[in-house]
Amino acid sequence: AAQPTTPFAETMVETDPARIHRLFEGQQPKALALRGSSAAERIAKLKRLRELMFEKREAIHAACHADFAKPAAEVEVTEILPVVAEAHHAMRKLKSWMKPKRKRPTLLMFGTSAEVRTEPRGVCLIISPWNYPINLSLGPLVSAIAAGNTVILKPSEMTPHCAAFLQEFLAELFDEDEVAVVQGAVQTSQTLLELPFDHIFFTGSPAVGRIVMGAAAKHLTSVTLELGGKSPVIVDRSAKIKTAATTLIWGKFANNGQTCIAPDYVYVHEAIRDEFIAACREALDALYGPREKLAENDDYCRIVNTKHYERVRGLLDDAIERGAKLPVGTVPANDDRFLAPTLLTQVNEDARIMEEEIFGPLLPILSYTDIEQPIASINARPKPLALYVYATDNDVIETVLSRTSAGGSCVNQAMMHFLHGQLPFGGVNNSGIGNSHGHYGYMAFSHERSVLRDRFSLAFLFRPPYNAFTRWFIRF
Ligand code: NAD
Repeated sequence: AAQPTTPFAETMVETDPARIHRLFEGQQPKALALRGSSAAERIAKLKRLRELMFEKREAIHAACHADFAKPAAEVEVTEILPVVAEAHHAMRKLKSWMKPKRKRPTLLMFGTSAEVRTEPRGVCLIISPWNYPINLSLGPLVSAIAAGNTVILKPSEMTPHCAAFLQEFLAELFDEDEVAVVQGAVQTSQTLLELPFDHIFFTGSPAVGRIVMGAAAKHLTSVTLELGGKSPVIVDRSAKIKTAATTLIWGKFANNGQTCIAPDYVYVHEAIRDEFIAACREALDALYGPREKLAENDDYCRIVNTKHYERVRGLLDDAIERGAKLPVGTVPANDDRFLAPTLLTQVNEDARIMEEEIFGPLLPILSYTDIEQPIASINARPKPLALYVYATDNDVIETVLSRTSAGGSCVNQAMMHFLHGQLPFGGVNNSGIGNSHGHYGYMAFSHERSVLRDRFSLAFLFRPPYNAFTRWFIRF
């Protein structure tokens, strides 16, 4: 496989602040003009975007491969398909989403009619991460366009080929006063964050999410924060072990573990622990073939850059120093971004690997005897973006779902909730604020405006001069 050539963040050319200010100013009148845009006009834009995605398929593959040797099938399923599906869903539903929703009068509001309209937020900023560079830039963009906004998009500097692709791709579809791409790293991001955007949609780490929210607070800009964290898995003794192992191994090692909703660590019931580990080993063989040939396998992605490789390697070394065992360990390779799928057992709960989001191909497997143990341990950590439970016993499933909190969950599956267009996708507290996808994405980029029309209301009763009737009415 060709070697990825991602430069470090520091080498990314930052965008001139004057250009950023010009773009921001230029989008103001356009945002006002788009307020009254019709569903048909927005649908036409989404249709062109969807069509161009198909036309530019090869370029998307090339960019993802150049950035982190992303396998072609994974590009299809995790970069192209979700965006196309998002656009398709929005095109089909937009008319009904845009339609004002009538509200029946409450008793007090007798004699009025009311509705909730959605209006575009205005000039929006989307900041995206590197791990699904196309999907997590264009997915939110689809929602923003559906909702009638203008957008400045700042893709991640860690995947520069994808960032360059996005700039070219969107320039073919939109004038810069409607959608503009600004490339750069932290400095560019900070210049953008100083501006009074109408909404910021950020996808990235909780640490940077705090910076974004702090900056947004200065202008009282609304935010959607799609963050990360450690997504746990519980495998109950009633689980179908092979299904659990196969889906978890795919969920963990797709994109080399660099997925916000990747299973981060597993709690497996002690009674099935050994069988589960054996099933994981088999699933790895079935999915990726012989381990000694893994470095040549085009279906296995790379860590995005050597800095991240060293971070993940550091987590592994720390866990080993603290007594972890590797039932499936690393294999040597002549590639400084390659790390084989690694399973860890006997992991000390105080090891760094149990504190930080792993975001790499390492899977700690811990065991339990009483379901209260993993529940207590999950509840002691920040609320995760995803939590997966494998069981056939419905009581166990219900206990886990009702006694924990997470952005989203799958039962007997991993990560697939991301692709369900009718489900909100988002985190809770440390893993995020607000939602994306489908109608929820449209709402993230819309303001819900209440409109009350008076016909023959009793509002005159609330005005002076107050009299006995007013007092009677209030008591009533
Ligand atoms: P990151 O937070 O480092 O970077 C995200 C974006 O923020 C990039 O565009 C980057 O340039 C910018 N940025 C970085 N430092 C900044 C700063 N100090 N000030 C302003 N902007 C800054 O995240 P990442 O490494 O690109 O992505 C990995 C993280 O994103 C993981 O935590 C993962 O779980 C999370 N994530 C979440 C989702 C989701 O949908 N919830 C999806 C993918 C990734």
